[in-house]
Amino acid sequence: MRIYLTYDEMPKKWFNILPYLPRPLDPPLDPGTGQPVSPEKLLAIFPEPLIEQEVSDKEWIDIPEEVLRIYSIWRPTPLQRAERLEKFLDTPAKIFFKNESVSPPGSHKPNTAVAQAYYNKISGTRVLTTETGAGQWGSALAFATMFFGIKCRVYMVRVSYNQKPSRRILMQTWGAEVIPSPSDRTSSGKKFLSQNPDHPGSLGIAISEAIENALSSDEIKYSLGSVLNHVLLHQTIIGLEAKKQFEKLGIYPDVVVGSIGGGSNFAGISFPFIRDKIVGERKDLEVWAVEPSACPTLTKGEYKYDYGDTAGLTPLLKMYTLGHDFVPPPIHAGGLRYHGDAPSVCLLYDEGFIKACAYKQTEVFSAAVLFARVEGLLPAPETAHAIKKVIDIALECKNNKEQKVILFNFSGHGYFDLSAYDEFLSGRMKDV
Ligand SMILES: *Cc1c(COP(=O)(O)O)cnc(C)c1O
Repeated sequence: MRIYLTYDEMPKKWFNILPYLPRPLDPPLDPGTGQPVSPEKLLAIFPEPLIEQEVSDKEWIDIPEEVLRIYSIWRPTPLQRAERLEKFLDTPAKIFFKNESVSPPGSHKPNTAVAQAYYNKISGTRVLTTETGAGQWGSALAFATMFFGIKCRVYMVRVSYNQKPSRRILMQTWGAEVIPSPSDRTSSGKKFLSQNPDHPGSLGIAISEAIENALSSDEIKYSLGSVLNHVLLHQTIIGLEAKKQFEKLGIYPDVVVGSIGGGSNFAGISFPFIRDKIVGERKDLEVWAVEPSACPTLTKGEYKYDYGDTAGLTPLLKMYTLGHDFVPPPIHAGGLRYHGDAPSVCLLYDEGFIKACAYKQTEVFSAAVLFARVEGLLPAPETAHAIKKVIDIALECKNNKEQKVILFNFSGHGYFDLSAYDEFLSGRMKDV
């Protein structure tokens, strides 16, 4: 069963959670002075409209017409019911998912990439730099910049560049320049290369390179695919659409589940619902953030100020963190290997509005294969974390004879991750 919205029914504003937070966010700090970062410093990296959104206290922010038109290539996305999974589990729970895998890059990521490309275009940006691990974010930004005539420069973690050519080719097809990181194009890249000419790279190093490049010219800006307030804001279109779709059915979810890397897909599906929990309209709503055991930021991290990148170029953010020098084992859910989480998600977790849990990747892939076999859709490894939790909740419902309505974000498809499926199916996958 699929529940659709027409283009006219698509939300025309994003939802901003900041005015609803139970206490104000601790501001990002300048690592040099220990004082809140000045807007001028941020202007060297991000265009003004995005900095305004980063600190806005307005509840609703208009989605520009140009962004809506590009969204319409794949939005509104369907809300689907996983009836076959319910039947297979023999659970009284009703399982729904928002299918964000239908975007051309195959995940939720273009929801913010398109918005960021638009605001950069109207601010005079000619080149957008970014980092990418497995290539999901890079391909979303390559896709988005293409529509606005902005050049996209992606620093791609070298191991992924070498081992996962498919997403690199996708980015290049959409016209992006893809550079293996560490590279000899930046001083931070050169530093790591001099330590080890075959350095495999890391997301943190790639972020450092992309920011360094952005700082070299006014016409070059940097784009981040998660963690920041404006990124989470753009993703709320997911939850806002889902709310409208549930209204059509006359129901409201009891549980909302999302996987969590930096927090954007999780916030995208959950923030519009968490609003109702914060104001007391839906006090019993349960919200779960699911992470890998290999990178257990919320479940095992410390709540403190930390850098967003490895080299320490970014402002300090107050978040749950495993430490900016934390290197997780190389699990297949590349999008969930970030050492921190979005400050707003962390605050809500700290205040008890969100729960978190962690799974090992073999458990996660069992859930992914089960989902593929009963529902037919092949989840991304990141998405499969949410699916594993949904299955556990649905089985609890079976034991307790509870008819809960569960919503999760099907954040992306797994067609670029088939080698990971191969590793799992052949029993070679590490149990981390
Ligand atoms: C990137 C990604 C995620 C996690 O990223 P967040 O920053 O937490 O949103 C989840 N699922 C898919 C398919 C992704 O590509």
